[in-house]
Order: sequence, then C-alpha cells, then structure tokens
Amino acid sequence: MRIIMLVDMDYFFAACEELRKPEIKGKPVIVGADPKGGNGRGVVSTCNYVARRYGIRSGMPISMAYRLKKDAVFLPVDDKYYEKISNEIMRILRGFAGRFEQVSIDEAFMDVSEKVDNFDKAVDYAREVKEAIMKGTGLKCSIGISENKLLAKMACEAAKPDGIKLLKREDVQKFIEPMPVDRLYGVGKKTAQKLKEMGYETVGELSKAGLMELVSKFGVYGKEIYDYARGIDESEVVENNEIKSIGRERTFDADTDNIEEMKSMLETMANEIKEEIDTKGLQFKTVTIKIRKPDFTEFMKSRSLSHYSNSDKEMLDEAFKLLADNTGTKEKVRKIGLRVSGLASYRGQRKLAEYM
Ligand SMILES: [Mg+2]
Repeated sequence: MRIIMLVDMDYFFAACEELRKPEIKGKPVIVGADPKGGNGRGVVSTCNYVARRYGIRSGMPISMAYRLKKDAVFLPVDDKYYEKISNEIMRILRGFAGRFEQVSIDEAFMDVSEKVDNFDKAVDYAREVKEAIMKGTGLKCSIGISENKLLAKMACEAAKPDGIKLLKREDVQKFIEPMPVDRLYGVGKKTAQKLKEMGYETVGELSKAGLMELVSKFGVYGKEIYDYARGIDESEVVENNEIKSIGRERTFDADTDNIEEMKSMLETMANEIKEEIDTKGLQFKTVTIKIRKPDFTEFMKSRSLSHYSNSDKEMLDEAFKLLADNTGTKEKVRKIGLRVSGLASYRGQRKLAEYM
C-alpha cells in the first residue's frame, strides 16, 4: 500500500505578508485586487483566518470583501515574493519525499512509502515536515495522509488549519459519503452541477451511480468520477514541474483592431494547446493572454480558475474575458498570445477501452 501526503500551506499569500509585516498579524489580511473604496474589480486571492471570521473567502469579489470589512488590511498580490518563499518550501519538502509533485505555489504531493513503514509512523513524519517548514520559513501548513492522492487531498482539507489528518481505508466511507460531490478533488463546479442535476448531491449518493451512466455522460472522465466516489485513485505522484506553462503566439498579417479576428486566432491557439496538454496529461489553472501593440509595447493579463481544468472551452472563455477587459482602448494589435500555467498532472489518462 502506498503512503501519500498532501502538504498545503495555510492561507499562503496572506501568511507571507504577515511574515514581512508582523504588525498586521492578528488583523484581517486580504491579498488580492485593489478594493478602490468598494468599486474595485477583481477578486480576493487569499485571506487569513481573521478575515474569514467576517465571511471573507478567496475567490470572492474584492468589492464584496470591502463591504464585509472596510478596515481590513488590503494588499496587492506580490507573486515574486511568494514564489521565493515557495521555492524554499518545496526545497525542504523534496528532502522528505520519495516521489514529489508540486501541485501549485503552496501545495505538493509526496509519496513517502519508501520513507516510512506504516501510517502511524507517517503521522510522526508529517510532524517533522511541519516543524522543518516552520523552522525554515516561519510558516504553518496542513498535511493530509492517506493511501492515494484523492484521499490525501481531502484529508488535508479537513486538517486545516495547522493540522495533520490521517485517513485510513476503513474510515474512508464514513468520511467522504456525507460530503457534497464538489468536495471530491478533481470534480469541478461544472461537473458538480451536472451531477446534482442527475440527482447526486453527496458522494454517498454518487457512489450508487452506475459506471455506464457516468461514462455516457462524462466520457472517460466518468470512470474517474466513479472511482473517486469510492475513494479510489490510482494516479501516481509525478514530478511534472519541469513544464511550467504551455502557450502559443501569433502575429497578425496586418495590425488589427477587429475583435472577431483576435477571437478566432485565440480559438486556433486554444485548440493547439488543448491537444498538447492532453498529450502530456496535464491540466491548468491559469490562463494568460499577451498582446503586443504595433509599437511593440506588450501587456499580459491572467485569470485563474478556482479549479484545475483541461477544457479548451474554459480556456477560451477566460481568454475572451481577458480580451474584453483589454480592448476598450481601440488600439491596434500586432501579435497575440495565449498561455496556460499552474499545471498539474491530469488524473484521467487511462483509456476508456480499459473499462469496456
Ligand atoms: Mg494553501
């Protein structure tokens, strides 16, 4: 049996800010878009637990967060700084892992089957990991431990904040069955919505769905869902962070301000990127467009999904939103680029034929 851990930093961006500004500790801290006195656009990236007491959550519009707590500490996202700390965290974690897979800036799976003999020892090991991160960076994390990635991830959610949660096979059913289907790691909002429409609200209900019913509705992914509902996930912990992003860029034949032309270019690139991520077994979280103007000035804009996706439709939806945000000036465009990042291995590379 495998022993898998998921290490996830607690309110990472906000915790990094507290680290360099100790005076804001104990106050509600919100990292994200500029609230502009309640008129700001964009969302909360991360907030600390004090802010959460006021109902503030990551992904919430920043204007709403402002209404909930006007005098909170609002800070812009400083990726470079968080990435530096992230690199240090990942360096420490690698030292503890057998196989290691960074999932995002503040999250990583570790297969520690070679490092510890059993789950009880894994709990002690997780304690050591937490201490090492605290010592090395001053930050807290939570750790989920179980026999696969799906369950380790879900255990970790339950361990937050600052905890360790071991989920053994005999406790899996009791643990996951009451959960709403969208709590299953790998099931996004859209899939959850469809499952609810099919009458499956909880994981327990979903576990009664037939395999063919799910496959006919979701294709290959239906088999994954079928397994997830049973706490089954055979995907390996894989090193995949050598690929940081995948993208395409195209120069227009003539500089253009025609939105439809830009959209169709994005569509072509989205198709190509979709093909590449499928081949590499990847999914993405962030979509970026880059626009180069005739004077060679460039700007880039990104949007992050709240979940991992491998859908070209979602990729394109985000790209169109970014384009709409940035074409108000009516300036011509020389070149356009589309890129996805925040990559993780896709948990469904097995072929449908294997199940038929
Ligand atoms: Mg985190």
